[in-house]
Amino acid sequence: MSGRSFQPKIKKSIVQFTSKGMTMEKPLLFSPAAEAFSDFTMTSGLPDSVAQYLGRNETVKRYNRILEMLVTHEPLTDILHALVHLIEDAEPTTTASILLLSEDKEHLIAGAAPNLPKFYNEAIHGVAIGLGVGSCGTAAFLGERVIVEDIATHPYWSDFKALALEAGLKACWSEPILNSEGQVLGTFAMYYGEPRTPNDSDLQLILEAARLAGLAIERTNDHKQQKTSNSIFDHLPYAIAIMDQNLQILSTNPAFEQITGYTEDEVVSLEPFMLMDANKTSDIYRYELSQLDEFDTYQEELINQKKGGSSYYLQQTVSILRDEEGDISRFIWLFDDISERKQAEKLIEYQANFDLLTGLPNRNNLQRNISNCIRAYDAKKTPFALMIINLDYFKEVNDSLGHQMGDEILKQVAERLQKLERKGSKAVSLGGDEFAILISEFYDCDELIDLATKVGASLSESYNQEHHNSISYITASIGISQFPKDGETIEDLFSSADQAMYAAKDSGRDCYSFYTQGLKEQAELKARIHRDLIVAIANDELDLFYQPILNFETSEVDKVECLIRWFHPELGFIPPDQFIPIAEKSGLIAELGEWIRDQACKQAKITSDAGFKVRFSVNVSTLEFWTGDLLQSFMNALCKYDLTADVLTLEITESLFMKNQQEIIQILGSLRTLGIRISIDDFGTGYSSLAYLGTFPLDELKIDRSFVDGIEAEERKQALVDTMIVLSQKLGMKVVAEGIETKHQLDMLKSKGCDYMQGYYFAKPMNAQDFMAFLQSHQVQ
Ligand code: C2E
Ligand code: CA
Ligand code: CA
Repeated sequence: MSGRSFQPKIKKSIVQFTSKGMTMEKPLLFSPAAEAFSDFTMTSGLPDSVAQYLGRNETVKRYNRILEMLVTHEPLTDILHALVHLIEDAEPTTTASILLLSEDKEHLIAGAAPNLPKFYNEAIHGVAIGLGVGSCGTAAFLGERVIVEDIATHPYWSDFKALALEAGLKACWSEPILNSEGQVLGTFAMYYGEPRTPNDSDLQLILEAARLAGLAIERTNDHKQQKTSNSIFDHLPYAIAIMDQNLQILSTNPAFEQITGYTEDEVVSLEPFMLMDANKTSDIYRYELSQLDEFDTYQEELINQKKGGSSYYLQQTVSILRDEEGDISRFIWLFDDISERKQAEKLIEYQANFDLLTGLPNRNNLQRNISNCIRAYDAKKTPFALMIINLDYFKEVNDSLGHQMGDEILKQVAERLQKLERKGSKAVSLGGDEFAILISEFYDCDELIDLATKVGASLSESYNQEHHNSISYITASIGISQFPKDGETIEDLFSSADQAMYAAKDSGRDCYSFYTQGLKEQAELKARIHRDLIVAIANDELDLFYQPILNFETSEVDKVECLIRWFHPELGFIPPDQFIPIAEKSGLIAELGEWIRDQACKQAKITSDAGFKVRFSVNVSTLEFWTGDLLQSFMNALCKYDLTADVLTLEITESLFMKNQQEIIQILGSLRTLGIRISIDDFGTGYSSLAYLGTFPLDELKIDRSFVDGIEAEERKQALVDTMIVLSQKLGMKVVAEGIETKHQLDMLKSKGCDYMQGYYFAKPMNAQDFMAFLQSHQVQ
């Protein structure tokens, strides 16, 4: 049993079907008219006073007809009209009128006055009740009879007398119509064409007419309510069973049968508990009943059985109805089948805690378990460890075998990891090709080494592939961190294991690595560089250096590469290779790039103003293509220094061509249209596909330093460089050889037909001042 909640003395609206003594068990079966209105029999005053005028037989007939109309629930207006006619026939000099009190209890609205002039009825309809609002408005307001013998002179009529006189009305007696609790429902009025004083018999007549009207109105309202109740009972989407004080079922609604399978006939006189889960002992019922006794209603969720034995979840409310003495008269059992919701909840809970593909616990689950381990450590000082397992080259496996096969392999990886679980260790999926094992108890590192070795060995065994001939071999890189040594929070423990895993990848994959002091220092250094770089950008502590690029034929400085420099006040020179990746990872690269472009253009302007014609090559990180509006940024810098775009060359790397080709083609195209040239940097070292050369608009190719280094001795490198040169010439691209350090290299590259040369042999990167001096000495202005 779950979800039980007791609520103090709730009167649920749903059980308020009863109204003024009517029960809700079944639609009312009215007894014959005379019985139904036993308080209003022929002995009452109305028939007598009417009989004076109409004769006894006619009066009885007419009177019974009205009662019959009441019993058969004819429309209220018809009943009121019949009553008005009865009175008018009994007293031919009078015109009768019934007005009803509006729902807001502040206005009178038309009830029945068939013989008053239409304009008069229309004028009265909706009038606000109050003292001095004619006889009826005042009677309704005071709840008392108001006799106005002469409308022309009576103060209650001063505002309405013109209207009344126009209608030929001179006297008006009004009796408030009251319900059984004495509340005003409307007014019954008798009008006369002459001023007139009522006698006792008149007063009796008007009183009795108002009483009968009151009964009709109240009865109609009750009937409406009863009909609504019955309709709710029948159409409610919740099952209801009404039980007597002995808990025996009296009646059920259609939803009861739909949900439980039991018809009303099958369950009448049974106790509901007989229909319930057999596991529920009578003790529990007794407990529930005692709670009910105290609170009048309680709710709970439980599993029950339908007719035929199938189980379902139900949410039930049991409420007590009490009679006027406060004794229990009925139990109301209201419930709904919530099996679907329960199932959905279970699914949601499962999805929140387990990996759908492999069925392993997920990251969420792992985090919760780590929290538990941390709490256990606080109590017992038992260290624990986290192992992150990343499959090597899984993307390639996926690409070559297809995602379906990839998923199949992941499932098998999960099974293997589960097989290696032992007491205190749990395999987890972190999503995709990343898994983890939480080792909540271990004695020493040897144990962790042993497990990591087993994981590595198990995962590198071949995988079964249904309907597939090739067998894949998978290896994994494993990182291990220990609590509390390598991290005292979940995040730190994860981050340490991650770094250890990347260290394993860096040292060739297919191995494990512990989080070490060295890794810790590296991580701390990275964090510091990131922090300090933000400050350096803000404080203008960075510098742009310039490395000349010479024309092979003329040996003139035609171009220059801009290279960023950072002299850290405490850490000294930090090479760009070290901080650029950190800037890329943290998003700082966008801001850094802006600064570089601004500096480069500024220097280009100075250079050009000094009369030198030099192109500036600016390195752009691939990430900058995704983080901002690169085109705009270049245009801004050019505009600021009043430069034409042909002063710039953009150095990009092959990694740019790995995704979203269309967008890149568009950006590069726009840059070229502007006049900026595009150079492909570090050619031959990155993305191993030449296809992009045919697709992307490029102007220049830079042969990477690694091909130049040792070219003198290595024939293979010479062959590769030859190929690159032919390739670029065929594609109409210029070739730059970078990293030339010796005369030998220079000569060899020159003989092969490179267009430009760059390297320490000619000049190292230098600051702006040195660069200008270099130009002065090497360039014809
Ligand atoms: P890169 O674009 O390939 O830059 C050429 C690198 O080779 C520079 O290193 C340069 O100093 C070095 N170099 C030039 N000639 C020789 C040589 O003869 N021998 C040797 N051994 N090295 C030579 P640096 O300045 O350390 O830059 C390293 C990398 O950092 C660059 O490689 C580039 O990828 C990145 N980088 C540098 N400045 C920027 C920049 O402003 N923006 C961006 N996004 N990246 C930059
Ligand atoms: Ca470069
Ligand atoms: Ca390069």
